[in-house]
Amino acid sequence: MIDVAIVGAGPAGMTAALELQKLGLSTTVIDDQPAPGGRIFANIEQRPAHGAEDRSGAALVRRFRQMGGDYRPASEVWQIEPGPRLFLSSSGQAQMIEPRFILMATGAQERPMPFPGWQLPGVMTVGAAQILLKTARQIPDKPVWLAGSGPLLLLYMHQLIAAGGMVEGILDTSPSGRIITAARALPGAITYGWRDLLRGLAWQWQSRSIKVVRGITSLQARGGDKLSHVTYSTDDGQIGEIATELLFIHDGVVPGLHGTIAAGCDHRWNEAEQCFEPILDTFGRTSVETIFAAGDGATIGGARAATLSGRLAAIGIARAAGTMSSEQAETAAKPVRRGLAKAARFRHFVDALYPPVKMALPDETITCRCEEVTARDIRAALKNEAHLGPDGIKIATRAGMGPCQGRQCGASLTRLVREAHGGAPDAIGFLRIRPPLKPLTLGELATLDSGI
Ligand SMILES: Cc1cc2nc3c(=O)[nH]c(=O)nc-3n(C[C@H](O)[C@H](O)[C@H](O)COP(=O)(O)OP(=O)(O)OC[C@H]3O[C@@H](n4cnc5c(N)ncnc54)[C@H](O)[C@@H]3O)c2cc1C
Repeated sequence: MIDVAIVGAGPAGMTAALELQKLGLSTTVIDDQPAPGGRIFANIEQRPAHGAEDRSGAALVRRFRQMGGDYRPASEVWQIEPGPRLFLSSSGQAQMIEPRFILMATGAQERPMPFPGWQLPGVMTVGAAQILLKTARQIPDKPVWLAGSGPLLLLYMHQLIAAGGMVEGILDTSPSGRIITAARALPGAITYGWRDLLRGLAWQWQSRSIKVVRGITSLQARGGDKLSHVTYSTDDGQIGEIATELLFIHDGVVPGLHGTIAAGCDHRWNEAEQCFEPILDTFGRTSVETIFAAGDGATIGGARAATLSGRLAAIGIARAAGTMSSEQAETAAKPVRRGLAKAARFRHFVDALYPPVKMALPDETITCRCEEVTARDIRAALKNEAHLGPDGIKIATRAGMGPCQGRQCGASLTRLVREAHGGAPDAIGFLRIRPPLKPLTLGELATLDSGI
């Protein structure tokens, strides 16, 4: 029997695997990407490492490769159960694994940013554009407009320009007054992240050569079968229009929760980041005793915090497995927790500087893109049947039933229920997640073999 199945080979999962091996526990690391590195270090073995962060990521990937444990790239985990038990598919073959513990290190997803026309060809997320740049060196051959806010948006701008692409302008959704709020959180951020702050300042400086429209409060992407124009309004009452065929949008990142929700772990609402997160104890253990979570899939902290929380979860698992005493685990965890506390102060600064976008959700917005359900449809369902929560809306309208399994519309459903009935998000909750977490063919399901 495997001791620990780790889902995700990003900084959190790779660090946890290395630590667990040192602590004498066997691991299987499952990741849907073709190579280790996760999002930040995607394709790091094939591309030049730029800067200290990339170099440390490349070194981590090398150590992970040299570790020689059971690593399954290009394998999708499509169900997780409290047993613990997980189901995965690799090269068309499905398999069930029943390890002693599962560590969810599945990372973040971009926070969905719905507005009318966001489904048009030509509109895509900055994260998706960045993956194309990092893994396939795809550089748009036309000038790009960026919309939204957050460090990833500025990083992509910098990376695209460095790669020879053209950024025509930014539609900046950051609210005015945020600099003053963020300044209060700056002292807590400096010790942990002064390098990141300097990098951020350099990107801001670079954006001075680009047209920036500030205070965006609404967006509409227009066009026939693809994007041709974007209209916007600003907080000082201006209305504008730009002609563009490419609009890349971004509104920060949130934990990817499908695995921990499917496994029955408890979650709570994070008001500052406007998202749900799994509830963890001081060692990264979820409310399901045999399931731990680390990295951006647990709480957003960035790559360095992900390595720290991967280490903490490894210590917690060793303690739960009995290979470390509680005293040994507490001693080992102390410096890691100190590092995580510093990372949290840095995150507090970033949250203040780039708060989630507060744009209206007009009726015509296609909220569930898979099933083409508009905000109007959902509001109508809520009016007709006032008791509906996110799962009731799903049944009534099919929103959340498509291949993305609510990754794009789940947060909007919670938001629209709150708008209609009031109440705290913790009471409203998120969509219940059903298997499969990722699309699976019947043929694959039929190959299911109960494995290790
Ligand atoms: C699109 C995107 C781009 C980003 N780019 C950057 C960047 O350039 N710089 C930066 O500082 N931060 C970036 N971030 C933030 C980044 O997530 C963290 O800094 C860091 O990568 C978190 O590490 P992690 O180990 O928690 O997760 P990740 O690095 O995200 O690793 C998680 C891994 O789990 C895999 N996975 C998820 N679900 C499953 C499943 N069901 N089955 C199998 N495998 C699964 C994922 O594909 C991924 O390989 C990005 C985030 C996103 C969402």
